[in-house]
Amino acid sequence: PYGIAKLSPKGDFLFVNKKLLDLKKTSKKEMLGQTIFDFCTQDKVDELKRLFKTLNKGLKNNLSFEHKYKDIDLKIELTKDDNNDIIACFLDVTIEKILEQQVLEDQENLKRLDDAIKGANIGVWDFFPQEGRILANETWVTQKKYKDKDFRKNSDLFCDVLNGLEKWASIVHPDDLEPTVALIEKHLNGETDIYEAEFRMMCADGKYRWIYDVGQVFLRDSKGTAIRMNGAHIDITHIKSLQKELEVKTEELKVLASLDPLTKLYNRRYFSEVSEHIFHLAQRDTVNLSVIMIDIDKFKTVNDTHGHKTGDKVIVSLSDALQELIRSSDIICRYGGEEFLILLPNTDTKGATSMSNKINNRIDEIMIDTNDKTPLKFTVSMGVSEVHLQKDQTIEEAIDRADIALYEAKNSGRNQVFIHDFLTTSKGY
Ligand code: GH3
Ligand code: MG
Ligand code: MG
Repeated sequence: PYGIAKLSPKGDFLFVNKKLLDLKKTSKKEMLGQTIFDFCTQDKVDELKRLFKTLNKGLKNNLSFEHKYKDIDLKIELTKDDNNDIIACFLDVTIEKILEQQVLEDQENLKRLDDAIKGANIGVWDFFPQEGRILANETWVTQKKYKDKDFRKNSDLFCDVLNGLEKWASIVHPDDLEPTVALIEKHLNGETDIYEAEFRMMCADGKYRWIYDVGQVFLRDSKGTAIRMNGAHIDITHIKSLQKELEVKTEELKVLASLDPLTKLYNRRYFSEVSEHIFHLAQRDTVNLSVIMIDIDKFKTVNDTHGHKTGDKVIVSLSDALQELIRSSDIICRYGGEEFLILLPNTDTKGATSMSNKINNRIDEIMIDTNDKTPLKFTVSMGVSEVHLQKDQTIEEAIDRADIALYEAKNSGRNQVFIHDFLTTSKGY
């Protein structure tokens, strides 16, 4: 005890020891003339008086009372003796109080962390690779919709996952297990600064959820063997599904970006991408490759006479006719407003010319509804050229020749096919 005093039932000091005098910084004489209540702050006097009453009435034989005296936290234990006097022991509990306060603060901080982790749905783990042991928090379990008691030893903030490593492995998607284990081992071996993995885990509802797992070894022994690794599970299922959606959309956009909206034929941008590729394949395999350039005759007049909408109908009907006629390996492109280009692999000048004639015959059957009584008919001019597998550097050279042939077809009265071959000068067909 810090100090001892004997008090009358009224609280007068009857005896005090030296330690108590030192504490109160007073003399024995002075102290013996005073009561214990003189050493109490006003707010504590009433409480102390109540305790004295309880003791004096014999309701209890000992009681304790705490108050701060100067900088010291004092605990006063009051015990009634056989003469109805009261023995008071003064104990210094300053250090205990500080420690108690620290424990409370630590608990508060732990609660803060735990609440935040729960709120953010983060599963925290503590892995002992040498023992195959995993400790985890409750969210590690509830994140996967399992019941805490089915997965963990008890309900502590952290405790063992039952059959730790086996349990973990049993709920990881079979396809993701091997690559994930490889990443963990790489990190344990010190090959990576941090461990990061994404894998699916089977949840209690029978569905897989995507987990982003991140962690680090925090303890190695003197030989460098990993003893302890800590990390967290973050549910990224939602992000994964958005990613998937984005991939699908990007793919759709790619297709859209390569098509002409009116005819759904490939546009010129996409055509130049694939045509060069087809050109190189033809060169490599020494197979013929031809192009046909098609342009609707006097199309301006169609628009001017029947309107733009009817003009569109003509374009679409020509596009449909071309799509019907070509082989699956041929590629048609809307090259300009009313200009179309067809790429015909495995086809020489002769074959391309016969295809042009087929096109002409087909167009001859087309009749477009207009506001007038008589349906509209139209014609096209065509230029044909075969690729020179040795001399041509790019497909553009053949396209340019087909364009020249088309120009000549137009100049020679339209509604005809002209061929520009690399051996002879262009000639009518
Ligand atoms: P030519 O026989 O010499 O080819 O005569 P043309 O009138 O067809 O020649 P030109 O190239 O001068 O005119 C093409 C017209 O095609 C001009 C343009 O307004 C029209 N056009 C281009 N794209 C479209 C479209 O998508 N829809 C419609 N309706 N018209 C278009
Ligand atoms: Mg035209
Ligand atoms: Mg034109």
